[in-house]
This record gives sequence, structure tokens and C-alpha cells, in this order.
Amino acid sequence: MLFDINKITIQQLSSLGNENIKVSTLRTDLIHPIVSGNKWFKLRFYLEEAKRLQCNTIASFGGAYSNHIVALAAACNLNGFKSVGFIRGEMNNSPSLQEAKELGMQLHYISREDYKYKEVLMEKYANNGWFWINEGGYGINGALGAATILQTKDCSSFTHIICACGTGTMLAGLLTGANENQSVIGISVLKNNYELNQLVKAILPPKTHKEFTTIHDYHFGGYAKHPIELINYMNHLFKREQVPTDIVYTSKIFYAIEKLIQQAYFKDNSNILIIHSGGLQGNRSLVPGSLVF
Ligand SMILES: *Cc1c(COP(=O)(O)O)cnc(C)c1O
Repeated sequence: MLFDINKITIQQLSSLGNENIKVSTLRTDLIHPIVSGNKWFKLRFYLEEAKRLQCNTIASFGGAYSNHIVALAAACNLNGFKSVGFIRGEMNNSPSLQEAKELGMQLHYISREDYKYKEVLMEKYANNGWFWINEGGYGINGALGAATILQTKDCSSFTHIICACGTGTMLAGLLTGANENQSVIGISVLKNNYELNQLVKAILPPKTHKEFTTIHDYHFGGYAKHPIELINYMNHLFKREQVPTDIVYTSKIFYAIEKLIQQAYFKDNSNILIIHSGGLQGNRSLVPGSLVF
């Protein structure tokens, strides 16, 4: 279970661009077949902090198909931490949770009602040897870790950097890591999540004064909603470009960028970089055979 950052590539996507606009993607999904993408970057500095504080156990929260939970289990396994996952809802044998268990994570199932009150849970399970990470890795250390995504390859020639947003941690990180003249755009995968800009601003390092844009029109009905139109798009994109995407995050951003280009949202000579943030393990919630990859 090794993460290999050297496997990341920049892939040009000729079928998404046109004569005037170039589109490429940074394939962070390639670092590991299951623990792919941004979650590993978001976790790295939390793990360092836990080590500094001499905690031997890391605890966090997530749903039954959570990329964050699987990545946390793997990262803890690799770095000699015990891990504990507080899982929303009833006992569930999803492939993601089985994987987390195999990686040594201890799971606690929490009712949807109790799950809303995380401080109460944290108090109930309070333990000096435990280091807690927010759901989805939200926080300053998460953003600083995500900033290092842009150091894996030379990304300096791109005019736009585009990512999917859940908690907004990756967007905050990309803003921190991008240079002054790059536009950073986040596509929200949650419906009506208009707090997103505030959440991003709250975790930007003090000297970051960069502008950013969030777009809220491509959630396909909301978090983890995946109508057949989206599944068809994922298959179509894979056939054209051999890029596999996930149903929760990345499919929605590639779709959004194609639509925005058609609507002339981007100026001529734009050179767009889409961050492929991984998450492919979540596709295991689909009926087998739904996807061509
Ligand atoms: C978690 C996740 C995101 C969203 O990251 P945030 O930092 O929460 O905004 C995007 N893509 C994938 C694949 C993810 O797993």
C-alpha cells in the first residue's frame, strides 16, 4: 500500500478543448488505485502534527463510501498510527468500509441524528492519545497539504486551475499554491452550498489575498447524486480520453468545463488545468457494469 506521487501525469484532453482553448488534467488519481487523489495530500500534515503531539491514534468521520475514511485508514496503516472511523448511519459492509477495516481501522456506526453533533461524540470518546481530524480533512493543515498538489508537476503555464469542492479544503490549498496570475475555480458538488466561499476563506493562510470563483450549477441534484446523464457522460469521456472519473466529484467538473467552454465562459488562449482528484473507489457503490472502465 504505497502512494507513488511520481505516477502523477499531466494529460492533455484534445476533445475537451478547441482551436483557442487548451484543456489538460493533473492525474492525481494515479498515485494509488484505491487511495487515489487529493485525500492523501490533505492528510499529510495532519499526520505530521499527530506525530509531533505524540498521539498514536487518529480519529475522523465519514459516510459508508467515504474517500476520506479509506485514505485515512491507509495513511495510518502506512505510518504506524491506529485509526478510528466514526461512520454515519447503520452498520454497512460497503467495499470502502471493508477496505478500511482490513487496513486496521476500528469502526463505530453512529446514527444520523447523533452524527450531526460531532463535538458531543468527540467528548464522549475523549482520549489524550487520539488526534481528531474533521470530516473530509477540512482545516488549515488540509489546505497546506493540498497546496502541495501543484508541486508534483510544473503547473506554471496554466491560466486556470479547476477543482471539485466538497469542504473547500482543496480549493483553499490550490489558491495558496497557485501563482498570482492563475485563476482558481471550484465547482461545488453540493447543492446550494453557498457557505462554501466563507469556508474556504476561513482556512486560507493569512497572506493569501487571491480572488477565487465558485460555481454552483453542476451538482447534478446534490452530493453523490448521479443521474443516468452523468453515468453516460463518464462513459463517453472515458471512451474519448481514457480518463476514469468518479460519480461524486470528478465527473461533475469535467462535465462542467465542457459546458462552460461551449458557453464561451473562458477567453481565447486559456490554458485550463483540471485537477483529477481521484475518488474512483467510490464508484463501487454503483451496480456492476454501469461503467465501461
Ligand atoms: C474529497 C474530495 C474532493 C473535495 O475536496 P474538498 O477539499 O473537501 O473540497 C474532491 N474530489 C475528490 C475525489 C474527493 O475525494
